[in-house]
Amino acid sequence: MGIIDGKMVASQIKENITTEVQSLKKKTGKSPGLAVVLVGDDPASAVYVRNKNKTCNNIGFQSFENILPANTSESELLNLIHELNNDEKVNGILVQLPLPNHIASKKILEAINPQKDVDGFHLENVGRLVTGHSLFKPCTPAGIIKLLDKYDVEIEGKNAVIIGRSNIVGKPVAFLLLERNATVTICHSRTKNLSNLTRSADILIAAIGKPNFVTADMVKDNSVVIDVGINRLAGKLVGDVDFSSVVKKASLITPVPGGVGPMTIAMLMENTFRAFKNSLK
Ligand code: NAD
Repeated sequence: MGIIDGKMVASQIKENITTEVQSLKKKTGKSPGLAVVLVGDDPASAVYVRNKNKTCNNIGFQSFENILPANTSESELLNLIHELNNDEKVNGILVQLPLPNHIASKKILEAINPQKDVDGFHLENVGRLVTGHSLFKPCTPAGIIKLLDKYDVEIEGKNAVIIGRSNIVGKPVAFLLLERNATVTICHSRTKNLSNLTRSADILIAAIGKPNFVTADMVKDNSVVIDVGINRLAGKLVGDVDFSSVVKKASLITPVPGGVGPMTIAMLMENTFRAFKNSLK
């Protein structure tokens, strides 16, 4: 029984990046730049954007904040993306989702230069991921693999069961686990006998968006449980896993908050740093 400290792992990653950024800045006079685009005034998105900016500043990245009103048109947003694509100071572009309904997210994400697509959502980068040639791994799935590695969890040959099939978490983490030779099962809202499948998991990943959904009876003894969920319940942040009961059964488990969440931002910084280093080549 152990608790995975995502906050600590994320801090270590950010510290390493900070040191490398300083030494590259001395050599080249340049530092990595991340442009974050927010359309509208969704409070949760505003918090995420603020955190990303703060992290950039802390680790020596330049941060370019683009906050646009909710009535921004699709073509105005596309123009901004083109400007950022052509701006040499910008190595990574992140468009905070969800976008307002009148804007086609797919069109916007496809307009980002794949070399600057640090979220890894451009179809070219999705194709790269699926074929095992990834340029930028999507941040949350990459953070999950990093946590498993840091805690020496063997992935090869293990049964990995994922609950959730979203394009940002469920599907990409399935491909990353497959790349590492796990036997992968993806479950979703239409899956029958979910508990039978989850009880076969050596590594169980919950990305559902339902508070305390995974209960102890759904979990195999001594398995590793990764909780991606971020839910608000009675004013508190809780995951998709019923932590207090599952912690007694799992060999390792991520808490919410302090598990996968901090890793997502750390991986965004890692991807931006990679884009920067690629731009120097
Ligand atoms: P989503 O809503 O796009 O997908 C949820 C998935 O859960 C769907 O594929 C659906 O089929 C499945 N599901 C729903 N009900 C189910 C049921 N009864 N049984 C089995 N499967 C069921 O969500 P998402 O974007 O993948 O996010 C999932 C959760 O992770 C949310 O709480 C979100 O806030 C959180 N999240 C956290 C981070 C992070 O950095 N920690 C990043 C992204 C998302």
